[in-house]
Amino acid sequence: MDALPPEASDVAREAARRRSFAIIAHPDAGKTTLTEKLLLRGGAIQLAGAVRAKGNARRTRSDWMKIEQDRGISVATSVMTFERDNVVFNLLDTPGHEDFSEDTYRTLTAVDAAVMVLDAAKGIESQTRKLFEVCRLRDIPIVTFINKMDREARDPFELMDEIEKTLALDVAPIAWPVGRASEFAGTYDLREKRFLPVDATDADAVPLDGPNDARLPALVGEARAAALAEEAELALAGFAEFDLAAFRQGTLTPVFFGSALRDFGVGHLLDGLARYAPPPRARPADARTVEPGEPALTGFVFKVQANMDPNHRDRVAFVRLCSGKLIKGMRLKQVRTGKQVPVNAPLFFFAKERQVAEEAWPGDVVGVANHGTLRIGDTLTEGEAINFRGVPSFAPEILRSVRLEDPMLAKKLKTALSQLAEEGVVQLFRPFDGSPPVVGVVGQLQLDVLQSRLKVEYGVPAGFDATQWQMMRWIAGEDRTAIERYLDANRRDTAEDHDGEVVALFGSDWRRKRAEEEWPMLQFHAVREQH
Ligand code: GDP
Repeated sequence: MDALPPEASDVAREAARRRSFAIIAHPDAGKTTLTEKLLLRGGAIQLAGAVRAKGNARRTRSDWMKIEQDRGISVATSVMTFERDNVVFNLLDTPGHEDFSEDTYRTLTAVDAAVMVLDAAKGIESQTRKLFEVCRLRDIPIVTFINKMDREARDPFELMDEIEKTLALDVAPIAWPVGRASEFAGTYDLREKRFLPVDATDADAVPLDGPNDARLPALVGEARAAALAEEAELALAGFAEFDLAAFRQGTLTPVFFGSALRDFGVGHLLDGLARYAPPPRARPADARTVEPGEPALTGFVFKVQANMDPNHRDRVAFVRLCSGKLIKGMRLKQVRTGKQVPVNAPLFFFAKERQVAEEAWPGDVVGVANHGTLRIGDTLTEGEAINFRGVPSFAPEILRSVRLEDPMLAKKLKTALSQLAEEGVVQLFRPFDGSPPVVGVVGQLQLDVLQSRLKVEYGVPAGFDATQWQMMRWIAGEDRTAIERYLDANRRDTAEDHDGEVVALFGSDWRRKRAEEEWPMLQFHAVREQH
């Protein structure tokens, strides 16, 4: 862990022992299994199986999560906190479905590191790549876990090369597999010179003099020992040496091998996270950069969720703390509006069970119950007027008009859409020519969630129709009059989003390109950072 000066404040100390991370993986790579095993390591024994629980406990949760059960996927983002060897880990769960959702992107704005899980038989898959690109945009350091080593796997050298080439990332192997598939005996720790036997506890690591150690053949057999000696040498010579600065800048990934199912390599991975992953970093705001050790509290909302639990029919804003200490009962300033928000019962999310937090520190995520005041991207402070940057909105890839089954419900629909847009479930665009609003989502799954919530929560059954538009972009430019001229010239193909920002709607990519050519003084952005 990074050393602290003796005079460090409580806030700086608490911040320094926190690791807030997410797991990025293609579906089926083993994210859920790994999450379970990580929680077990963190002493949360009673949670075994809880992550995957599909029983009654889960069914009592809110109705709209029915989609989640029906499809066997996790729509909601949750936060799990566990502690090990004086390090507090906050694992922010991201939806593990092939379909992309904005929640996933936003969750990645609230972490300081990510674990990239690869299936050893498959390597980098489409979703791994997409999620990785989001991490790269934010220079989030990545720890790689090559999972399912107990099964038939691809050659480890080939996997390392693939990571290096397809992601343009230096790879530094930390562990190296000994034996393959059914012959898999464990891993050799290239840095600490230890053998970690499969089916043994972390404490059973065998210290060695190196991969040629004469004791190895007795441990793993002649053939596997000889193969390791040769491979370890090649791996050490052929790949980058682990470099903490390069890792933290996001240009190098340490690589671990293991099997989540057999609970192997998980402790090693967790040690790596504790040791290498950064504690909360300084975070840029509009007026200045905020250091995590500062005494005054700051944080930002990266997710809002309604009706998480039928017993709490309110909205919960997920706040990532960036500095200071949160105490129950505090009043915080919502910088966007200047309003005071009471934080009477901040919630910690512990494996999806709500627990009231007494205090929280930089790197932690707490839930703040409210009635719709808090929005995604909001900054909360003890009074200072600063805004954190970087909670993004993404140009939706699907634009739809809403078809009401009962036209009498038009007013109700309007309220519902407006609330759901505030929550970030959907984006809403109001065309300037007065035609009905258009909803935008990043993936089909988001539309299903919208449809289900409209019906279940608002009593508004609705369907969706294609529109004449294929895509949208936010319009920006120094020259306000140029923007006005663009809007005048394109009244039928422009709209405002839920925050009043102007957008251009396009029937095809060709039209978008033409607009860019014809309006060189304007920019058409696919990503907008809120506030
Ligand atoms: P997710 O979709 O990424 O959350 O993947 P899951 O954790 O649900 O795992 C997908 C499948 O792979 C399940 O059937 C797991 O039991 C299996 N699995 C996960 N980890 C391992 C592993 O280390 N070895 C083997 N053999 N199977 C695994």
